[in-house]
Amino acid sequence: MKESITFGGITVEPGAKKSGLAKVLDTDYSFPITVINGAKEGKTLLLTAGIHGGEYPCIETAFELAEELNPAELSGQVVIIHPVNIEAYFARISYILPSDQKNINRLFPGDKNGSIGDKIAYVITYEYQMKSDFYIDMHGGDIHETLPPYVYNPGIGDNKECLAYAEEAAKHVLSAKYRVRSVATTGAYNSCAILGVPSLLLEQGGRGLWSKKEVNVYKADIINIMKFLKIYPGEAKLPEKPAKLITKAEYLDSTCSGRWYPMAGLEEKVKAGQVIGIIKDIFGKTLCEVKAKYDSIILFETVSLAINEGDPIITYGI
Ligand SMILES: [Zn+2]
Repeated sequence: MKESITFGGITVEPGAKKSGLAKVLDTDYSFPITVINGAKEGKTLLLTAGIHGGEYPCIETAFELAEELNPAELSGQVVIIHPVNIEAYFARISYILPSDQKNINRLFPGDKNGSIGDKIAYVITYEYQMKSDFYIDMHGGDIHETLPPYVYNPGIGDNKECLAYAEEAAKHVLSAKYRVRSVATTGAYNSCAILGVPSLLLEQGGRGLWSKKEVNVYKADIINIMKFLKIYPGEAKLPEKPAKLITKAEYLDSTCSGRWYPMAGLEEKVKAGQVIGIIKDIFGKTLCEVKAKYDSIILFETVSLAINEGDPIITYGI
């Protein structure tokens, strides 16, 4: 006999679904969650959207999945946090949690004695990720960023079986044009895999925009992974064209503040030594020219004219 499940203080009987606000430890912060307890036995999938509050395609995808997934059809459990960074979502700001000015995605596995962002990361790690069999962190380009559809699978961790399973799942992300085996450690999905639970990060959209088309593509990707996990009925598909594996990439941050002029478009092929962006000061003096070190493709760009020292500006890779 299947049992009821509890996440974020919300208990759900088999074949049922409940939504509500889940409190973060001793803080006044709570995020919206939907807990779906499928009618049949199976794996538990955790989905988080909006760790960055301005990434609308993934946030709308999470909203719609929370409404549309039918527990009667599911074999297993699905828990959706939509969005994690509800404070930034309503403030309509990118990257950070307004309360402590931290980027939650750099705080994992979190700290229960830290600031609100640290506590959110801690709660997601120990009250959600570690109670799941698989984790997908849903992102996109933030309000002033643009990127093509991506999937990242974790590449660091002692549990090789976990990493191999995540990599196999990553190959089933239908829309991904690029795939990266990440060597980062503090991202929500990286930290999760280091602790032994397989995970992925998906990216779709950007520029503070969202469309029904992007959301439908995003939902189809998540449902295909749910089929791969045997939570959703039907056979998981592989994409007609596999994503290009990026094995080497440069993630450049701005070394100064001013006006940002990207000189190559998204997915454009660039040559070693080519100027791919220029930063000028407010009065028009060129402060720096950003050059590609090797022949590569532009994989991410900041699209805002305004740029601050330390902001991500451009990524190229091969
Ligand atoms: Zn993000």
